Amino acid sequence: MKSPDFDYVKAKNLDDVFASLHTYKDSAQILAGGQSLLAMLNLRMANPQILIDISGIDKLKGIEKSGNTLRIGALTTHNEILNSDLVRLHVPLLSQAVPYVAHLAIRNKGTIGGSLALGDPAAEYPAVALALNASLVIQNAKGERRIKAQDFFISLYKTAVQPEELLVAVEFPIATSNQKFVFMELARRMGDYAMVGLALALTMDGKTIRECAISLMAMDDKPILAPSAMKSLTGQQIQSESILQAQNALEKDLDPPGDLQANAATKKHLARVLLSRALTQAGESHV
Ligand code: FAD
Repeated sequence: MKSPDFDYVKAKNLDDVFASLHTYKDSAQILAGGQSLLAMLNLRMANPQILIDISGIDKLKGIEKSGNTLRIGALTTHNEILNSDLVRLHVPLLSQAVPYVAHLAIRNKGTIGGSLALGDPAAEYPAVALALNASLVIQNAKGERRIKAQDFFISLYKTAVQPEELLVAVEFPIATSNQKFVFMELARRMGDYAMVGLALALTMDGKTIRECAISLMAMDDKPILAPSAMKSLTGQQIQSESILQAQNALEKDLDPPGDLQANAATKKHLARVLLSRALTQAGESHV
């Protein structure tokens, strides 16, 4: 199918973006890498009056360490993240997740800002942002605000970004030497959207888990944390009993809708399997 008619403007800077957003409000749509939006247009899932192309705004590109934070500009592509030593060193969970994002050609164009702003519950970055308690940096003509990942993802394809706003960056906390991270997902084929995915972040006190964050993708209409499983692991060592207890606790956290990939019971089972595998891997790694 072909896309509906729309106007197009290529923004030279952020002032251009905010001026166009002010004029067209929610009948405008931001175009970043186009890897989701162009398909949505062709499928007639989106019908904007105008596309505001932000791809030429250098200020939105790049990866930068500042204090205890790694800031990644919204226009940074998946492949730039994949190849970044800064990301590998300071946000290893993101490094582990990015190879699962789509395929090489899509990773050349698709951006982290586009993925987070789209808010697909089966996407990798939202789950990573949630597990790491990342801050999303949102800007409008008057200034910028920060919002935690937990408050950013609202429901299916709905985020906290308002019609006259732009997601400009995401800030991840720098990993510390006593943390362990595991990202895993199950998809029918490598590069497909996941049936279930899991991001695990552990802060250790020696062999004991001091803090634990577990987020899951493709289990609800947005990425979710697993508070019961997280609580059951806190203060525990990683052993077969604590893994089993966490798996049982996870049952309380999950009420997935079935989808085209798997029914609810299968998804719950796969989430249990991923949790066990992720904890076992974390237990085998040294901090
Ligand atoms: P665009 O397509 O340009 O925009 C996406 C949406 O976000 C639009 O609504 C747009 O208006 C809005 N937007 C974009 N940037 C901003 C911004 N800075 N501020 C506010 N709003 C903004 N993704 C995964 O995570 N995992 C996968 O496994 C996966 N598989 C894929 C497989 C295929 C075949 C395809 C085509 C895509 C797949 N994707 C997958 C999606 C891909 O990662 C996209 O790159 C990403 O979702 C959107 O990024 P983009 O830069 O292309 O955004």
